[in-house]
Amino acid sequence: MKAGWNFDNSYARLPDRFFSKLNPTPVKAPELVILNHALAKSLGLDEEVLESEEGVEVFAGNRIPEEATPLAQAYAGHQFGHFTMLGDGRAILLGEQITPNGERFDIQLKGSGKTPYSRGGDGRAALGPMLREYIISEAMHALQIPTTRSLAVVTTGETIIREKELPGSILTRVASSHLRVGTFQYASQWGTLEELQALADYALERHFPNFVEAGNRYLFLLEEVMKRQAELIAKWQLVGFVHGVMNTDNMTISGETIDYGPCAFMDTFHYETVFSSIDYHGRYAYGNQPYIGSWNLARLAESLIPLLHEDEDQAIEMAKEAITQFSKLYYHHWLEGMRAKLGISNEEDQDEILIKDLLKMMQKYEADYTNTFRALTLGQYEGMELFNTNTFKEWHENWKERLKKQPESEETVQERMCKNNPAIIPRNYRVEEALEAAVEKGDYSVMEKFLHVLSDPYAYTKDQEEYTELPPPSCEPYRTFCGT
Ligand code: AMP
Ligand code: MG
Ligand code: MG
Repeated sequence: MKAGWNFDNSYARLPDRFFSKLNPTPVKAPELVILNHALAKSLGLDEEVLESEEGVEVFAGNRIPEEATPLAQAYAGHQFGHFTMLGDGRAILLGEQITPNGERFDIQLKGSGKTPYSRGGDGRAALGPMLREYIISEAMHALQIPTTRSLAVVTTGETIIREKELPGSILTRVASSHLRVGTFQYASQWGTLEELQALADYALERHFPNFVEAGNRYLFLLEEVMKRQAELIAKWQLVGFVHGVMNTDNMTISGETIDYGPCAFMDTFHYETVFSSIDYHGRYAYGNQPYIGSWNLARLAESLIPLLHEDEDQAIEMAKEAITQFSKLYYHHWLEGMRAKLGISNEEDQDEILIKDLLKMMQKYEADYTNTFRALTLGQYEGMELFNTNTFKEWHENWKERLKKQPESEETVQERMCKNNPAIIPRNYRVEEALEAAVEKGDYSVMEKFLHVLSDPYAYTKDQEEYTELPPPSCEPYRTFCGT
């Protein structure tokens, strides 16, 4: 029986500087705790084999599939504004799986042992955070937000030391690629011009194959990455997702969300929402994400300068000019998305004010972001202070008037709203509840039920209702942590 691994390893054909070839460090007693059946199928993998001892040994890094070329990728990055050398310190890329459709996906083991880029770290990951990544990345996918995916989680049979001993674990991550803004920063800082060019050509081939029609292909690369990131970050804002660690090494070239460390979904709407325990100054706060996106892309632009034009001054001008476009691109997607959330299909100048007035009210009355839009979608206004205020009632009338300025029926408007306002999101207390059952009690049923409802967040079904409830009041704000 064959699992269906079908690797090609184009990344390994880049210059040596971009990686270190090495195998994962074997673990003692791996056990599969969750497998993503739908994803396995779409990758052309045989679920039965994946669940067998042979399959689990691969997820654990104990067995290397034929044709895999295990390696750790080198990259750099700005972490909270400070530039540093990084690289896969606890991950190994097994290779690129070519699917039956001919698509190419990185298959990466995360938590697979030390690498030359581990610095002081142990190269390992704990079960809780790997399951957390599984839940949130799969929820993001179901929300139709570009993201890396989670194929499987295994426990290692080993414990790792953090503040206390924790069960060790490895996540198998699937991505369009793991190229990051930080990969370009690395090439620009330490590589030769030829190496930087090899990386840029590689990124173009892999993600933007229509570059052949472009005049300046490296400017094209920059502009395309900007487009994808503008669209991505707008999608985050529209569902209230706070990434939490938007360092340049955590921003992909493909436009997928990556690195589910301290991320979380916002309940109460507030621009300054921060969950990460180490984000003291709110650099990565909800309302700051678009700005940080453009800051990171400016770092990409800087890295590409030697390729943009022979004349450095001209290259700098081109980079600057490109970057100024980001806020427009972002705003376009955000406004379009917000209109859709309110059921609006045509454009009126006043729309922006209508949207901002709503958000202002939500912030003032500490309204739950997801449930406010859910209430507007269903026309059911209960359980929130906001709905009893005169300002809301007035706003509501304006909104209804606005909807009359388009030809659609009420049903069509509601349909559009259902498609654009998730009935449920992975609320933090629900995520914690699922993780606690799994990690403390070995009970995966809570997580599985949760994943099931999260798999269709726009469905508005009965079984989702209990997941729309807000967390019980707590005196402590929700806090998240990086890299456990
Ligand atoms: P992150 O904050 O998740 O983006 O990770 C930043 C850097 O730290 C990356 O280079 C990771 O590979 C590395 N890293 C995180 N955790 C560990 C660990 N336990 N051992 C080694 N390296 C790690
Ligand atoms: Mg990272
Ligand atoms: Mg991380």
